[in-house]
Amino acid sequence: MDEPKIVVVDDQEVNVALLEDILQQAGYTRVHSTTNPARVLSMYGEIRPDLVLLDLAMPGLDGFAVLEQLRPVIGDDYVPILVLTADLTPQAKERALRGGAKDFLAKPFDVTEVMLRIANLIETRMLHRRLQDHAGILEERVRERTRELEDEVAERKQAELALRESEDRYRQLIESTSDLVSTLASDGRFLFANRAFIETLGYSAGEILSLCLWDVVPAEQRAPIQGLLDKVFGEGAKEEVLSSLVGKGGRTLSVEGNLTLGHTRDGSRCVHAFLRDVTERERLERVRREKELAEASSSAKSEMLANMSHELRTPLNSIIGFGRVLEGGSYGPLTARQSLYVHNIVRAGEHMLGLVNDLLDFRKIEGKTARLDIGPVPVGAAIADAAMMVAAVIAERRHSLSSRVAEGAPDALADHDALVQVLVNLLSNAAKYTEPGGSIEVRVSAAEGAVKVEVEDRGIGIRAEDQERIFDYFVQLGGKRGQSMNGYGIGLALTRKLVEAMGGSIGVRSAPGEGSVFWFTLPAAPARGDQ
Ligand code: ADP
Repeated sequence: MDEPKIVVVDDQEVNVALLEDILQQAGYTRVHSTTNPARVLSMYGEIRPDLVLLDLAMPGLDGFAVLEQLRPVIGDDYVPILVLTADLTPQAKERALRGGAKDFLAKPFDVTEVMLRIANLIETRMLHRRLQDHAGILEERVRERTRELEDEVAERKQAELALRESEDRYRQLIESTSDLVSTLASDGRFLFANRAFIETLGYSAGEILSLCLWDVVPAEQRAPIQGLLDKVFGEGAKEEVLSSLVGKGGRTLSVEGNLTLGHTRDGSRCVHAFLRDVTERERLERVRREKELAEASSSAKSEMLANMSHELRTPLNSIIGFGRVLEGGSYGPLTARQSLYVHNIVRAGEHMLGLVNDLLDFRKIEGKTARLDIGPVPVGAAIADAAMMVAAVIAERRHSLSSRVAEGAPDALADHDALVQVLVNLLSNAAKYTEPGGSIEVRVSAAEGAVKVEVEDRGIGIRAEDQERIFDYFVQLGGKRGQSMNGYGIGLALTRKLVEAMGGSIGVRSAPGEGSVFWFTLPAAPARGDQ
């Protein structure tokens, strides 16, 4: 600790010199003196002494006045003031004590006694300072610890907030996923189930928590699921699961996912189940498999039909060929009856050859839809090509055929051969289902972004309820097959397939007894000038 500082106040120079001398001998080196009591206050402020030796009887400002000035400055601090006075009346003593003096010395004073008193007071002062210092250190420590605790509390609050936020985030994730998430206790009781799980099974949140896994697993799957749970609980393994669950109303759904080991807050083991509802996916899968099977069997069927058609043509050629030879009479004349029978054999053979050819076409066109060569096709030219191919049947039935291409009708964006095939099918139907001597008209016009073709006849017409199904395979109307021509009920089905494969659509307007208008559209090719 620092050397003690002492202030001596006495109006008598000699007294000051004497006290300075005594103090110096006693080893006090930091002594400040004044003979002017008016300076004491400012000296006190500058020096901050540990002891003040104060004369009471001074002219102008006496010791009592000085005491009064110092009292508020000293305040709670312990700075001893030793009063030196010749006036040691009890009144003066009391006044000085009340004024803040700590001790008295009578003048003239005894050097030893002065030294002793001064030493005592200084010691008390120093003890006091040390105590103050200690208190300061303690206070600082307390302040520091308080700061640390405040920091700790703030950190803990921050950590709690972060934990809550992260819990919130996980809860939101779990609650918003469409996967079925649940937690099971080791006895199979539900400890938790997310929204998707509850909603999918149709239970309320409260109901689920009163259930156990075995309430929602069908009886036949309990053993394998128990096996999986044993593995998860026993080995901590993550197990894939594929099972059914039964909801509240008895609705069964298929789920797949996995089971993993977890721990509850109290440390006991639990299983988290993450499942996905795959009922719809399984249904679609089933539909796809069934469709594949159906397609495979349908393509097998058409393959078989094609093979059969080929096989049938050979004997048919013999029947028709040899029949015609006999009919021609090259091997002798036939009786009228023989001639009629041979004629019947040949016609029946030709009819059958027509059917077989249809079946071959069917396969050819089915294959064709997969290999279209799309490009701009002038529709008028395609009509002319088709007209040539049906010329024989048109002539045979004495029909008239005309065509009209509207001005500005665009070319079709189509496969030429397929378009001709479509026209041939529609024209030969028009010829077939119109009484001999009828008129057939083909019209071509522009439709929005497309070209529209209409084939109109004044034939037998089609009832409204049949107009949609005639485009299905193997649909023929009326008891008499083909009325007068070969037919197998596949022409329109193939026609629609071809039109749709080229990006168009097809339909019919018709009334029984009045005739039919078969129409189809095809995408329009860009105008020739734009190419
Ligand atoms: P089909 O080989 O029997 O002609 P299509 O598929 O070409 O087979 O036609 C299916 C059915 O639609 C025909 O059997 C016939 O009853 C009816 N049909 C087709 N075109 C016409 C038409 N222009 N007028 C009246 N009926 C028609």
